[in-house]
Amino acid sequence: MCVVYTEIDQKFDARAPLLIVGSGAAGLCAALAAKEIGVDAVVIERDAAPSGSTALSAGLIPAAGTRFQRAKGIDDNPQLFASDIQRKAKGQNDEKIVGAVTRGAASLVEWLADRYGFPFDVVDNFNYPGHSAMRMHGLPTRTGRELIDRLRAAAEQSDIIILIESKVEQLFAETNGCILGVELVRNNGRREKIGCDALILACSGYGGKPDLVRELIPEMAGALYFGHPGNQGDAVRWGRALGAELAHLGAYQGHGSVATPHNILITWAVIMQGGIQVNTQGRRFCDESRGYSEQAAEVLRQPGGVAWNVFDDRIAAVARQFEDFRAAEHSGAVLSAHTTEQLAALMRVPIDAFKAELDEVEGLKAKRAQDRFGRKFAPEQKCVAPFCAVKVTGALFHTQGGLAINDVGRVKRKEGTFFSNLFAAGGAAAGVSGKTSAGYLSGNGLLTATVLGRLAGQAASVQITR
Ligand SMILES: Cc1cc2nc3c(=O)[nH]c(=O)nc-3n(C[C@H](O)[C@H](O)[C@H](O)COP(=O)(O)OP(=O)(O)OC[C@H]3O[C@@H](n4cnc5c(N)ncnc54)[C@H](O)[C@@H]3O)c2cc1C
Repeated sequence: MCVVYTEIDQKFDARAPLLIVGSGAAGLCAALAAKEIGVDAVVIERDAAPSGSTALSAGLIPAAGTRFQRAKGIDDNPQLFASDIQRKAKGQNDEKIVGAVTRGAASLVEWLADRYGFPFDVVDNFNYPGHSAMRMHGLPTRTGRELIDRLRAAAEQSDIIILIESKVEQLFAETNGCILGVELVRNNGRREKIGCDALILACSGYGGKPDLVRELIPEMAGALYFGHPGNQGDAVRWGRALGAELAHLGAYQGHGSVATPHNILITWAVIMQGGIQVNTQGRRFCDESRGYSEQAAEVLRQPGGVAWNVFDDRIAAVARQFEDFRAAEHSGAVLSAHTTEQLAALMRVPIDAFKAELDEVEGLKAKRAQDRFGRKFAPEQKCVAPFCAVKVTGALFHTQGGLAINDVGRVKRKEGTFFSNLFAAGGAAAGVSGKTSAGYLSGNGLLTATVLGRLAGQAASVQITR
């Protein structure tokens, strides 16, 4: 049983005012926000250390109107950001939630920088598809590992308790849905019941649960899952048992550029800077610039479920700011050649078809023209020898559906009312990526994890202290 309905006098082994399940970006931002309001949250984490999909990400948080952007002369604002998110998701998102995350993002990034010393800067040498301004804020290594390590250090300095190697298995609730506490199982098999005044689910999505992926995202059943294996869909399971509304369960963040067989993420900068993808027949197959998420399924539809990213040395230099790209080069995933003929031979694709595609694309770049798929090219994207290629496949990164919430993370019931003390943020909640993979705008994952994590932590704490 995943939810036990019980009486208010249920006995617990311990109590905390606020319990948070999961110590990814959402859980730790929630705990830090709660602490600032004077509420001591206890974060429960199944792993030996905070990690989650957050650690696997590039750690880039989109935010509009930050001082980091102003310092670089980048003109941006939350309204523009919100319209980018809604355009990508075809208007399928709740306007209020989009408004809350886009308004809250700049203050989130500046909060982490000013209060906890996170050395953010804006990526300003390429832009991600669909963003009208350069607004990706990253840490020096451009890794999610650095982001989660800094969040953990901030939590430790703030004396926030993180119960590691503890998996929450059951929730206790009154029949009206008011959450009374949780039962967790420690690594040594010991079970403990902890009571709470409020609960935040920050235990992410269901990408690590193949039967849920098959049920909810059939097009990615069997695809490589590149997210955290501990994301087993517990929030969806508990939500279903509690009668919570679940939204956009078919939405996901895919990625059409994971080096294979090396399993290393190749930044989409290689495409946005002027690179292209061809299949094993040397042919392009779509407008790669729409976004990397929907490209996962496109690549998987190609022969062998693979494609080649093709770019040049100039683009490789931009991509090298990412540790992953450097690792891909180190592991031999990035092929390089002085002529297109030599590159085609290394890739083992038909030379004529491949060369025809490259020639056509370079011609379009020179004329600032559009290709047969609708992709627009520009002269600055020109590629010259030496050329590079990486064999890639499509992968499922992170699910984007989940518990329906309001603009502070409060979980909604099916009939439209809200649970009195249950909150969700990050991958546990429905995101702002519409209903499919095509609605994912780069950065939506950490945007909702960090901003809604913080907002949920604040809202739960204000309620507890009232
Ligand atoms: C390769 C990759 C690259 C990405 N790059 C970016 C990027 O650059 N920018 C961006 O915005 N997004 C990116 N994303 C998406 C982003 O990583 C996620 O959206 C975000 O990290 C989700 O944060 P979270 O806190 O909700 O979940 P997570 O970081 O996954 O944390 C959830 C935590 O909950 C724990 N947990 C789960 N169930 C339980 C349980 N029952 N009991 C106790 N603990 C539990 C897990 O162990 C985990 O530690 C990327 C994702 C991947 C996989």
